[in-house]
Amino acid sequence: PEFQKVNICKLVEDVALLMEGQVHNKNITVRLQPSTADCFAVGDMPQLKQVFINLMKNAVEAAPFGGHINIAIDRQQNMLAVTVENNGDSIPQDIIEKLGTPFFTTKENGTGLGLSVCFSIVGNHGGKIKVLSQKDMGTVFTVLLPPATDDY
Ligand code: ADP
Ligand code: MG
Repeated sequence: PEFQKVNICKLVEDVALLMEGQVHNKNITVRLQPSTADCFAVGDMPQLKQVFINLMKNAVEAAPFGGHINIAIDRQQNMLAVTVENNGDSIPQDIIEKLGTPFFTTKENGTGLGLSVCFSIVGNHGGKIKVLSQKDMGTVFTVLLPPATDDY
């Protein structure tokens, strides 16, 4: 893959625009928190874009009609952290453990491939994905990526 410096803020903004149709159809409010953090990671642009498309798609599918999705970019420890949060039913613990297993889906027409692709791409970039889902609190996926260094 072609690794280069990637502006994650810009990438996430592009993905939010790409999802506008689906977001609109469910009357979902997307809040993209303006970021003060340095937004650059090193990676394969189309692959990283795919990660956020897959996460956003899941968030739209999980959020109720009229729901919301919050996206924020900041630092967690020394990593660039992108959080994608949606309201809606939380994920039961036994299912959380299966997330990222290829072909695991709870959807009638799901492929169960979205998250496994996310996990492997982010892993190949030296990052990781955390999932937090609690009753009445919705679901938060956090993508942690190593930030670009000055000399990259
Ligand atoms: P698919 O979307 O095709 O089912 P994914 O790999 O993208 O496959 O997701 C696997 C499963 O993880 C989904 O079927 C769903 O049960 C769960 N999941 C993923 N994202 C969310 C979310 N934001 N809220 C609730 N459940 C989710
Ligand atoms: Mg999916």
